[in-house]
Amino acid sequence: MAGKRHLTRGLRFRLTAGYALLFALLLVGIAALFRERLAYSLDSEAHAILEQEWAAMKGYLRIERAPVKGRAALHAPPVWHYVWEFDKNDPDEDFIVERLRRVYLLTDAAGSVMEVSTIYQSIGIDPPREIEAALRSGQPVWKVRRSSHGTPYLIRGGVVYAAAGDEGHHHPFYVAEGRAMEENEKILKSYTWIYAGLIPFSLLCGCILGWLLTGRALLPVTEVARAAQTISGSNLSLRIPTRAAGDELDYLIETFNSMIERLESSFQQIRQFSTDVSHELRTPITAIRGQLEVALFTAKTVEQYRDAVLNSLQDIERLSQIVRALLLLSQAESGQLALQKARLDLTSVVRDIVEQFQIPAEGARVELSADLPPECPAEMDRVQIERMLSNLLSNAMKFTPAGGRVHVALRRLPEAVEIEVEDTGCGIPEEHIPHIFERFYRVPAQTTCTNPEPGLGLGLSFVAWIAKAHGGVIRVDSVPGEGSRFTVSLPAAAAEPAPVEPDTIPTLLG
Ligand code: ADP
Repeated sequence: MAGKRHLTRGLRFRLTAGYALLFALLLVGIAALFRERLAYSLDSEAHAILEQEWAAMKGYLRIERAPVKGRAALHAPPVWHYVWEFDKNDPDEDFIVERLRRVYLLTDAAGSVMEVSTIYQSIGIDPPREIEAALRSGQPVWKVRRSSHGTPYLIRGGVVYAAAGDEGHHHPFYVAEGRAMEENEKILKSYTWIYAGLIPFSLLCGCILGWLLTGRALLPVTEVARAAQTISGSNLSLRIPTRAAGDELDYLIETFNSMIERLESSFQQIRQFSTDVSHELRTPITAIRGQLEVALFTAKTVEQYRDAVLNSLQDIERLSQIVRALLLLSQAESGQLALQKARLDLTSVVRDIVEQFQIPAEGARVELSADLPPECPAEMDRVQIERMLSNLLSNAMKFTPAGGRVHVALRRLPEAVEIEVEDTGCGIPEEHIPHIFERFYRVPAQTTCTNPEPGLGLGLSFVAWIAKAHGGVIRVDSVPGEGSRFTVSLPAAAAEPAPVEPDTIPTLLG
């Protein structure tokens, strides 16, 4: 069904999308950070170089008063101006100064330009008020200006005191030195372009990789789902194979398998129960049918009809007993049969039941005795306790031959009360003991048992449920040929009984 599901709702899509988003944010973040760092270091480098150039220029700056050439008429007094004087005959100085004067501005204290290079002119001469402000503050001035061609220039301006002319005085001058930042800008631009191209490419690769990886990681989930789809009520024996990776998926598979195992055992129990019930119901129905057919075709006298009807009635009675017991058990199992607990004296409850069994015991020539404390206060459901005792006693009587003994004991212990029903009957072989509390379980015909009348196999299931519902336990000790002892241990009178969940009653679940 995976194909039918909307792609964008799938776990694979969502994981890949989340991964891609995170990856994109990370890439953009890293790119921005690197660009910032690169811009900063290029900028610092440019500042450092310009600072050095400015310092060098300061060292070479020698301002002289010189007459303006070719401006005045012959014999007219010369017009003076200040110029950067340097030794043109010194090739080193000439080279350095010429280099420094490429992007260069020299003004006097009033901001009037004394010397300016062509490039500096193209980027714009600083306005006099900026120069005056710089002269006033004495602080270095940094700015970036663009030429008419758009080339950026970093400018370092500042005050220089120089002896001008022959007067020997030091005058303040404003000197600005510039440096083209074109290269730096190119480097930053190419970095940005490379990254702008790389980010979508790496993102695409990341998405493809993420898609493949999540697909691979989620493959077992699809396999589990496929295997789960093949499991139905009729093939619950199927298990999903684990991948021996010991990861979360293996844990999920194991949990799933153990759930299927529990389901299988419940299904098995239900199937077994239906088989048992149909078997139990079929026997009396077949008998009734046989008796009625025989009566219909062969009976001649009223007596013969009467016998057939009587026998059928007995079987019908057995049928309704089974149905009643089953109904009661299913009520108990589904939690509909709530205990009606009340304060009672267990001694008198046990005594009453034992008395009810005295006459049948005498009839069966079985000695029935009881050992009871004077009183035993308890908080229990009287009807259920009586039902439990009756079941245990009727079993004891049923499986004890004439001349045998049945003994009932009630004991008050510090934490519990114990009801014990002991007989000297045929006993139960050890291998059958774990099963006798299962529904419809009857120990197969034994040599030690003198053919007791067939029971329903439901009595002990009910006994176990009653004991459990009161928060107690039941124990069986039996030696074939010697007898059996059933001991029910119930919490002491005032103790709160543990709540009984239907699925914690093993005997009822079979
Ligand atoms: P039933 O109606 O057959 O007595 P129960 O559930 O009461 O059903 O008992 C289950 C089986 O346990 C009996 O069929 C019998 O084989 C065995 N059993 C129970 N109580 C005794 C006992 N006191 N002595 C010997 N066998 C017993």
